[in-house]
Amino acid sequence: MVYAGSTASLPGASIVTDLYAVIGNPIGHTKSPLIHLTFARETGQHIEYIAIEAPIGGFNARVDELRLRGGLGLNITAPFKLDAFAYATELSEDAKLAGAVNCLGFEGDRVTGQNYDGVGLVNDIVCNLRCPIEGKRVLMLGAGGAVRGALLPFLAERPEQLVLVNRTVDKARSLAGEIAAHGAVQAAGYDALQQLGPFDLVLNATSASVHGEGLPIPAASFASGCLAYDLAYGKGLTPFLRLAREAGVRQVADGVGMLVEQAAEAFAWWRGVRPDTRAVIERLTVPLT
Ligand code: NDP
Repeated sequence: MVYAGSTASLPGASIVTDLYAVIGNPIGHTKSPLIHLTFARETGQHIEYIAIEAPIGGFNARVDELRLRGGLGLNITAPFKLDAFAYATELSEDAKLAGAVNCLGFEGDRVTGQNYDGVGLVNDIVCNLRCPIEGKRVLMLGAGGAVRGALLPFLAERPEQLVLVNRTVDKARSLAGEIAAHGAVQAAGYDALQQLGPFDLVLNATSASVHGEGLPIPAASFASGCLAYDLAYGKGLTPFLRLAREAGVRQVADGVGMLVEQAAEAFAWWRGVRPDTRAVIERLTVPLT
């Protein structure tokens, strides 16, 4: 990308400070400014990073304003990932399949939309948690935006089997149909889990944990040596993770690493330099107790 920005005056020096933002509603909880400003400090990049709370229906106007101010990029959180998808003039393959965009880059009239949620999730599992996906039996719970973003990056890792289980089974079926050209995904309801046997990796990509709700997963779904991963973060031991522990799972993780890894993808795309994620993940980690 070509960078432009405002000039901030510091004593004895003139430094170009490029403007980025995160947008959502609500936005008070966002960790994105802390993450990106830490990345910037550690990689010697001069950026300004702000949080924007847009009213529902006000996404386009706020993004137009940001671009008028010289903004170069934007992270998008709920509920605006579909608005960002519609706003983009060009889309990555991950964003096309997800039907949602969580990162925009601005270059003149060109607005490029990416979806880094899935690659962030895969990087966290494979690199940080040292759990290869290749050859594994993977159970993904949910069929919403996060699952849509995760399917292509997961299939690229060549799991032995990828099963999608969702409360509304038709949604899982239709998603499995959409992705069929890229790889085999089996769709089922929770009632089929008992017959499906154990999985090496069980991911809770539903929003149940956000509401403190549990899921009807039999202990038999967790293989010995399984990783149980809840995409929700900052909630401590969620009902899903507690269930996994009670079923004997020793490795449990929440989505804090995914959050930081998707931010690192965005930062690397915008700035052309890859930040180290470890310290930020440690700083944001809430104990799973
Ligand atoms: P969506 O609203 O798009 O999808 C929600 C999904 O959860 C649907 O499949 C829905 O099923 C299912 N669901 C909701 N409540 C229940 C329940 N009580 N029992 C069973 N299934 C339920 O959400 P997202 O896909 O955007 O987000 C999913 C999770 O991923 C959230 O916890 C979110 O915080 C997390 N996330 C984490 C990120 C990170 O960086 N760590 C990034 C993005 C998301 P149905 O179709 O039947 O309604």
